[in-house]
Amino acid sequence: MSRRVAVIGAGWSGLACALELVAGGHAVTLFDAAPQPGGRARAVTVRLGDRHFELDNGQHLLIGAYRCTLALMRRIGVDVDDALLRLPFELRYPDGFLLRARRLPVPLHLAAGLLRANGLSWADRRQVLAFVLRWQRRRWRIAADAPASTLFDGASAEAVRRLWRPLCLAALNAELHQASAQVLLNVLRDSLAAQARSADLLVPRRDLTQVFAGPALQALAARGADVRLRCPVQQLSAAGSRWHIVSRGETSTADAVVLALPPPRAAALLASAQHAALAPAIRLLGAIAMAPIATVYLRFAPTLRLPWAASTLLDDPGQGRFGQWVFDRGRLDPVNAGVLAVVVSAAGPAVAVEPPVLAASVARQLSADLGLPQPLASAVLTEQRATIVPAPGLQRPPARLALASLYLAGDAADGDYPSTLEGSVRAGLAAARAVEADLRPDRGGR
Ligand SMILES: Cc1cc2nc3c(=O)[nH]c(=O)nc-3n(C[C@H](O)[C@H](O)[C@H](O)COP(=O)(O)OP(=O)(O)OC[C@H]3O[C@@H](n4cnc5c(N)ncnc54)[C@H](O)[C@@H]3O)c2cc1C
Repeated sequence: MSRRVAVIGAGWSGLACALELVAGGHAVTLFDAAPQPGGRARAVTVRLGDRHFELDNGQHLLIGAYRCTLALMRRIGVDVDDALLRLPFELRYPDGFLLRARRLPVPLHLAAGLLRANGLSWADRRQVLAFVLRWQRRRWRIAADAPASTLFDGASAEAVRRLWRPLCLAALNAELHQASAQVLLNVLRDSLAAQARSADLLVPRRDLTQVFAGPALQALAARGADVRLRCPVQQLSAAGSRWHIVSRGETSTADAVVLALPPPRAAALLASAQHAALAPAIRLLGAIAMAPIATVYLRFAPTLRLPWAASTLLDDPGQGRFGQWVFDRGRLDPVNAGVLAVVVSAAGPAVAVEPPVLAASVARQLSADLGLPQPLASAVLTEQRATIVPAPGLQRPPARLALASLYLAGDAADGDYPSTLEGSVRAGLAAARAVEADLRPDRGGR
């Protein structure tokens, strides 16, 4: 007999979890507080002057690690090559600096890229290669976690400014001194030092709802999942070997519950269960800090085109230069011709200024670096709790919580990765597999 599993949260993690469970023959009820799925990675309608555009709540970039995400997209019929633009791993700046990995076996891909790099001294090139080879020998494991900045004690200021800090900001949404060395090493292992094609950068061409959340919801509906949007879950309580889930005054029952929520929300819902066994997990979740990301959308004439789809920018918040990456959304999809997305990660300093001031500063930065005209319109989208801060030694609760049939997914759950799409998908799949193992008829529940 199939068991009912409640998945709370229809972000990428909850969707991945629900898809895995229905594929395993389980009955699934998927709850989300929002009117649409996708959570922190979804389409939003953005007004830019006299036009509306379907863009994203935040411009995303997939750096290296995305194996499970792509496999899941393919499983639900997404044309991955249409949905995502694949670029060789590269860091390019408007002033001509370029480091691009070649499509060769590891570590030749990087060695060849460094040989042809533009803007790095020979000493820096040797040091970057030595760094990768050294950590490869150590299997990318550090004995005791420390701030990521300590990994680069011997590196030149220029290599840190152009290479290591931008990678840390883009992948971990944290400054080097705030971030875990081990988590950054995990990301470098799967990007800079990964086998040729798996190191490529992927940039969504379509909005993120088209890329995953929309097709995932359709696949779930087709397989009979009970999807409940606009249904915030307010309370959980154990009822014998089952769970009661309260949403909008109605109580549903399930054999297992997966919380695919950001850490603060997961902590609040676990607290509602009022069970002493959950106190350690609630404490760990409560200690996880979250960091903002701002995306500044600028609209120019539709004829405006950058020479590339994505480029890194040199930021300097003290000088009003907040932008770290610029994406040409028109190059990605002609329907957005003339729209640029500029990303500001670890955006503490940027969110301290008023959105119009931030947009004007970014426009000035692009004018100085790329000679762009004044934009016709702009919009600033800030996600205050975009990602966790992957601090050194940070502990997250495991997928299996201390009470039977209660599980954690998303970036609240323990894992190798920082808050990324792949990290969330993997956590969702891991929670689903734990549920399946525990609910197997021969186990009779956990
Ligand atoms: C601006 C921005 C830029 C980013 N850039 C990148 C990037 O470039 N690359 C990358 O890989 N990652 C990036 N990320 C991170 C990535 O988007 C997230 O890690 C991922 O989307 C988190 O997915 P999730 O399913 O774990 O959580 P969420 O997406 O947060 O999903 C949780 C869901 O739970 C729902 N919910 C909350 N409370 C309740 C409740 N009580 N009851 C029911 N439902 C509830 C929410 O509505 C939400 O839909 C970025 C994130 C942001 C915000």
